[in-house]
Amino acid sequence: MLPFHQRLSNALSYGEFRIYYQPVMNLQTGDLVGMEALCRWPQRDNTMTAPDQFIPQAESSGFIIQLGEWVLRTSCKQVKAWQDAHGRKLRLAVNLSSRQFLHHNLFGMITDALKQSGLDPQDLDLEITEGVAMHNAEDSIGVMRQLKSMGCGLSLDDFGTGYSSLSYLKRFPLDLLKIDKSFVRDIPADANDMAIVSAITAMAHALNLEIVAEGVETQAQGDFLRDCGISYAQGYFFGRPLPEEDFEAMVAALPKQAPRNTA
Ligand code: C2E
Ligand code: CA
Ligand code: CA
Repeated sequence: MLPFHQRLSNALSYGEFRIYYQPVMNLQTGDLVGMEALCRWPQRDNTMTAPDQFIPQAESSGFIIQLGEWVLRTSCKQVKAWQDAHGRKLRLAVNLSSRQFLHHNLFGMITDALKQSGLDPQDLDLEITEGVAMHNAEDSIGVMRQLKSMGCGLSLDDFGTGYSSLSYLKRFPLDLLKIDKSFVRDIPADANDMAIVSAITAMAHALNLEIVAEGVETQAQGDFLRDCGISYAQGYFFGRPLPEEDFEAMVAALPKQAPRNTA
């Protein structure tokens, strides 16, 4: 049996990885606004290896640099093709791991992916977790500023689960906070979670940050989050991560939008 990192590397060479796309909705209007790209590794026995089972190893071996580049290039091209084919404004969110965020060629890699795909940098959100942002927070601010100067959006993923400093939150040049699904799961049964979500929302809005609520699985959760004033949501209630052909079929079935430049 080959070592795991060798199997990962072979899987990329043989084109085995897939990207699934999970819809992100505007909670206030109900419109589809974009998607998050999530990596998958289908196996020969028709099972699917979830990212939690290979991203940590890819990260520790350094292979995440190649895999992450493939995810970014492929998803940028795919979303640009959907924008052109369906005349819709769609934003793409891509996860950046710790190693990617600190890699010397991060900006070159993103610039190339945008150039080759033709995707507008304003249609790309880069997601980093609190842990990544807070590790060497001063250096992180510099990297984030550079990413912002390229025109991309920046999201803080899994917000509330890590160790977040409110003073840094104020200084990080972020656009979006993604409230972790652990706070959404027990709404409306858990009054504490509801209070936490309301408080995070008030704080985020005071800092001019938009919110994406993650892990929305029920109508009641969606209603509560919408009434809190949260702008965006993703979760199984709106749509599971879908293979590209299923995501495209969903986009194609939506009512037509006004042309992009007048929308
Ligand atoms: P994440 O970035 O927090 O992604 C959201 C995860 O929540 C996804 O798990 C998604 O399938 C799952 N999810 C979405 N809606 C719901 C829901 O309503 N209920 C529940 N229980 N779960 C929901 P997934 O796809 O297994 O990905 C797990 C993690 O792996 C991601 O968490 C992300 O940290 C990482 N990951 C995935 N793809 C990539 C990638 O291309 N690059 C990097 N660096 N990390 C990735
Ligand atoms: Ca994410
Ligand atoms: Ca998340």
